[in-house]
Amino acid sequence: MSYIVKIPNGIICMSETLFECPKCHTKYSGERESERLHNAKRMLIYKRCTTCRSWIGITYDIQGDIRSWLKEDELVNSNRSAILKMKSFIK
Ligand SMILES: [Zn+2]
Repeated sequence: MSYIVKIPNGIICMSETLFECPKCHTKYSGERESERLHNAKRMLIYKRCTTCRSWIGITYDIQGDIRSWLKEDELVNSNRSAILKMKSFIK
């Protein structure tokens, strides 16, 4: 969750960088990842979980908080949409 603090002539927006592995729930502070995200061209990075070794996708949401998901779910979803497209061609 992000916090907005009012200051004279503006606001300061503070964002949460804490995230966890969606599979084994290992928690990460997100400090290194947020630095990597700032330098990433597409605002998207992947990190390997140190506990269960699965790939985690990491990005910011519209409020500036870190969001994480499993890369394997990403592939399942893209396959699912590909199957739906194929089905619509058959009809
Ligand atoms: Zn994990």
